[in-house]
Amino acid sequence: MKFFSARFVIVAAAIATWESAMAQTTIPLVDVRAVDPTIVVELRYADVNNFSKHALYPPGTSALVRPEVARRLAAAQAFLRRHQYQLKIWDAYRPRSVQLRLWQLARNTDYVADPRGGAGSLHSWGVAVDATLIDLANNPVNMPTDFDDFTPAAIWRYQGIDPGIRAHLRLLQAAMGGAGFCAMRTEWWHFVVADWRKYLPPEDSTRTGQTFGTRWQAKL
Ligand SMILES: [Zn+2]
Repeated sequence: MKFFSARFVIVAAAIATWESAMAQTTIPLVDVRAVDPTIVVELRYADVNNFSKHALYPPGTSALVRPEVARRLAAAQAFLRRHQYQLKIWDAYRPRSVQLRLWQLARNTDYVADPRGGAGSLHSWGVAVDATLIDLANNPVNMPTDFDDFTPAAIWRYQGIDPGIRAHLRLLQAAMGGAGFCAMRTEWWHFVVADWRKYLPPEDSTRTGQTFGTRWQAKL
């Protein structure tokens, strides 16, 4: 009994933290599925199925992005469905409190943005998503790596020999590039709207431009 009540307190605290993080943001955010209900969402940080082995979001958390980003995801989804595939969203808006937790756990700036410097992660501005490809029956398809694989195998240009994986990644990148996203060199699943600068305050945009914009950003 004690176990369950303690667990309830932890869950309640997590929800309170999440709600306060949401309340603190002034960014306009919408649920991706409210704009396009066909987009499949499986937020990996809402479950233990992520590198941290912790659920960092409360169960049932929605994939939130800026409205303009949601419309672009809907365009990417429409493109993919014409090719008998669809999008699955692994992460979207990420409160800075969660970004700080990820940074503490990973300590690797090639893969996790340090939230203490400048604008932090573009996920915390509602302009980045982590996405993969699935088939029309919601089955996963072969991709270069799993989510948050912090190895060179996760780079945006597939280096392996599997033609199926290469074709899947190219299709995902064609869909996202055509819808107005750019890629990240170290993570094939990470996409940012190409005009992300206009959604950040000027000082944050400049600082992020000096890191993401020069080192990691890749044009699709
Ligand atoms: Zn990402």
